[in-house]
Amino acid sequence: MAKRRIVLLPGDGIGPEIMASARAVLERLGEFEFEEHLVGGASIDRYGTPLTDQTLAACKRADAVLLAAVGGPKWDTTDPQAPRPEQGLLRLRRELGLFANLRPVRPLPALLDASPLKREVVEGCDLLVVRELTGGIYFGERGREGERAYDTCVYTVGEIERIARVAFRSARRRVTSIDKANVLETSRLWREVVERVGRQEFPHLELEHMLVDNAAMQLVANPRQFDVILAENMFGDILSDEAAMLTGSLGMLPSASLGEPGKPGLFEPVHGSAPDIAGQGIANPLAMLGSVVLMLRHGLAMADQAARLQSAIERALEEGLRTRDLGGSATTEEATRAVLAHL
Ligand code: ATP
Repeated sequence: MAKRRIVLLPGDGIGPEIMASARAVLERLGEFEFEEHLVGGASIDRYGTPLTDQTLAACKRADAVLLAAVGGPKWDTTDPQAPRPEQGLLRLRRELGLFANLRPVRPLPALLDASPLKREVVEGCDLLVVRELTGGIYFGERGREGERAYDTCVYTVGEIERIARVAFRSARRRVTSIDKANVLETSRLWREVVERVGRQEFPHLELEHMLVDNAAMQLVANPRQFDVILAENMFGDILSDEAAMLTGSLGMLPSASLGEPGKPGLFEPVHGSAPDIAGQGIANPLAMLGSVVLMLRHGLAMADQAARLQSAIERALEEGLRTRDLGGSATTEEATRAVLAHL
């Protein structure tokens, strides 16, 4: 088989430090072709723009794109004309046609006490939030008329079908589809389409519909009931942050953004560039390595390697690996070595 081509975008702040960790792990796991490019502030400093056409073209040719983090106080500006690091990421997402955001939430046994929720509530919880990224109220027509302001929520059948398929394909047993179908017309369409896709294409999986207000409550009351949570853009935005708190630790959360099958996905940690600790070699690389797990599984169809890496991360934590954000003193390099030792 041809070597998988991965574009690495280390970006800013702690980005290069945690990307080095990802690269070391990938080199141990298999043979890949790497291409590394600047993005965000680093690209502004060098080329005057947060994403060059060359970098974009390389990403489009890749099998997957791995991003660390972009941004930092150095590029904060009030000048609306000045380039900003985040613009590069927005353009990249748009150009790659990424419409599905996946955030797995699994409080690891070794870190259960990091959650603000009781241990018995989060223990054994293992869920995935699949959020629609391109439609809904964030992209509908908006405006002001005198004393009135409005935002419109629009969804098409095609948009709902494609995100529903991502959710069903990712599920092991059940999809819980979130809506507000007792009030919103877009939610009624959402429910109809998800129901049809589920019944026709994934009859072996359970499907349940849940109102978003109930889902918000169930997520903290009984999160273990969930397998895959499927939600439109705004509901997914809110619920994925709520779900993230089940683990209690920003430094541990990976994410994937996917487009059409066959097109490269973008994989990145949920946390930002952490400028306050950049350059010190103490960043926690585990959210980055978790993003590598997602890339192997959802972006490169390398499920075995994904499982190997996930179990190496968990075993390193069980043996006591703790970076500073987790209350320990391990450096980024030590954390990387601890994971490599189990591969
Ligand atoms: P953004 O808006 O880009 O998400 P932010 O400033 O809101 O940025 P982060 O950059 O994620 O958020 O940083 C929030 C806090 O979490 C900081 O104190 C940072 O040091 C810490 N942090 C974030 N990621 C890590 C990590 N991988 N390891 C250790 N600490 C981290």
